[in-house]
Amino acid sequence: MIAQPTIGVFALQGDVREHVRMLQGAGVTALPVRRPSELARVDALVLPGGESTTMYKLAGIFDLLEPLRKRLAGGMPSLGTCAGMIMLADRIESGIEGQETLGGLDVVVRRNAFGRQVDSFESDVDFVGFDAPFHALLIRAPWVEKVGEGVDVLATVASGPAVGRIVAVRQGLVMATSFHPEITRDDRIHRYFVDLVRSS
Ligand code: GLN
Repeated sequence: MIAQPTIGVFALQGDVREHVRMLQGAGVTALPVRRPSELARVDALVLPGGESTTMYKLAGIFDLLEPLRKRLAGGMPSLGTCAGMIMLADRIESGIEGQETLGGLDVVVRRNAFGRQVDSFESDVDFVGFDAPFHALLIRAPWVEKVGEGVDVLATVASGPAVGRIVAVRQGLVMATSFHPEITRDDRIHRYFVDLVRSS
């Protein structure tokens, strides 16, 4: 039980400010994380949307790769959105040559999965535990192609050509969405995550 958690947002690349705002709105202390000493101060971490190939490279340059992997392997609660989902996946499809992830989620994630025709789109998704659909914004988004045994599917696309595709998952204290909850006004995903962190 962590009553007053500090939640970090990986801040070397991606839409950091929006996540910080959402987390503060949900009542926790939020801190950008750019170096190992900052990572050491947080109870949980958000990996934002952006570009996973760049995130991976920068995490290496800033000596964050191994500290991040260690914390994740040690059970740090985390939320990955879009590129952040890719970073948390144990395995990826359509990565660039040499692209690695941090891991933590027993899933296969396909980068840029929705294809060129529908690079970016919006869709209502039914999110497990929410009493009304979540309006999801997908921007060159990945989807989850395969889930391991301990992984719960939280949301799938409700209609259109990509109907049924998995766009949110959770494995214990680690969760990920293909879409960008931080750029909506709907803070239910952040509150869900904050509850998870508080219960950890
Ligand atoms: N296509 C990006 C990647 O591979 C993800 C896009 C996003 O985060 N909106 O990392």
